[in-house]
Amino acid sequence: MKIAVIGAGFSGLSTSLFLSQEKGVDIDVFYTKNESECASRVSAGLMHPYIGKSAKRSLFATEGMQKTKQLIALAENELGEKVADTSGVFRIALNAEVSQTLDGYTKEYSDVEKIDPKTVPFLHKEVYGAYFIRDGVTLFPEKYLDGLITVCKKRGVTFIEKKISDLESLSEYDQILVATGSQIQQLLPQISLPIKLMKGQVLQCKLPVGMALSKSIVGYGYMAVSADPKYCYLGSTYERDVTHEKDMSLAKSLIFGKLQEYLTLPDGLEVTKCSMGVRALRKGHYLPLVGRVGNTWFVTAMGSRGLLYHALVAEKVSNAILTNSEEKIPKQMRWIP
Ligand SMILES: Cc1cc2nc3c(=O)[nH]c(=O)nc-3n(C[C@H](O)[C@H](O)[C@H](O)COP(=O)(O)OP(=O)(O)OC[C@H]3O[C@@H](n4cnc5c(N)ncnc54)[C@H](O)[C@@H]3O)c2cc1C
Repeated sequence: MKIAVIGAGFSGLSTSLFLSQEKGVDIDVFYTKNESECASRVSAGLMHPYIGKSAKRSLFATEGMQKTKQLIALAENELGEKVADTSGVFRIALNAEVSQTLDGYTKEYSDVEKIDPKTVPFLHKEVYGAYFIRDGVTLFPEKYLDGLITVCKKRGVTFIEKKISDLESLSEYDQILVATGSQIQQLLPQISLPIKLMKGQVLQCKLPVGMALSKSIVGYGYMAVSADPKYCYLGSTYERDVTHEKDMSLAKSLIFGKLQEYLTLPDGLEVTKCSMGVRALRKGHYLPLVGRVGNTWFVTAMGSRGLLYHALVAEKVSNAILTNSEEKIPKQMRWIP
């Protein structure tokens, strides 16, 4: 079976990885090198079950975390180095509702505990609660993606740097997977998907000499650890004006504004880079969207939970493609025309 995968972000690569386990399957991955077309490369890498303003536990969180952690281990084994910080994540409750929600989860789940806010670095104001998400992960996207690419290549997957402008040019393939994130509609103009787009900018910052961030901190916006302890990432913006332009001064004012509400950012913190990407979000729900039109399958709308869901969805989609059965996709994620 010959399969074309369009997209080499979290979705395209993880699905290629699962597909490549099957004997007799030839996989070609098409991708572009434009950073702003690949949200995965600019993502801050945060993964935990309590994403979003309300901090409600995401559906399929346990399964999603497990699957992504398997792929992290695979990438680390391949590269022989860490592709993620797995020491946990601080979650700050900035209103009573969030603290009530998280207090409830501390009784139900062992992955989150209430902690003394004084143990959270940089926290400056009286907050409603501070929590430690033991299982929280901060992934280093570039390293992780490179690890997945290396494993895929070893298993015979071919990578082709080429922008696909219509699916007719791929008629030689038995099955096609479109995993182009926010650019899904360009390749599937015949269907109208219930998605919206949201631009995000993230700032890479150099920490003052001798200072390090021990764990990522998430409240409104976040301060995330990075592969190089001299740097951290501050983010992120949610901009409706989806231009592919970076705007560092806007990003700075939005992100610093949010973070300074509860963190004292260190003197001498230097903004060294601004990156942007566009997320596809599903209208009315936060779960991803998976579907098919004939022999063309698609995965999109990972929203702000790309890390939580990509590996789980990849396993289901690869199964669905190989068995020619949409039933393998959980109903809540399935696109119904
Ligand atoms: C600033 C920012 C911060 C974020 N932080 C987090 C975070 O901390 N945690 C988290 O879980 N999520 C985060 N996200 C969301 C996460 O990045 C996305 O959910 C995820 O990357 C989507 O992955 P994807 O593979 O579906 O799409 P993408 O990563 O966008 O990949 C699309 C791929 O398709 C390719 N492509 C597109 N069009 C074509 C074409 N015509 N021909 C060939 N190739 C094509 C691109 O080159 C790319 O390889 C963040 C997003 C942004 C923007």
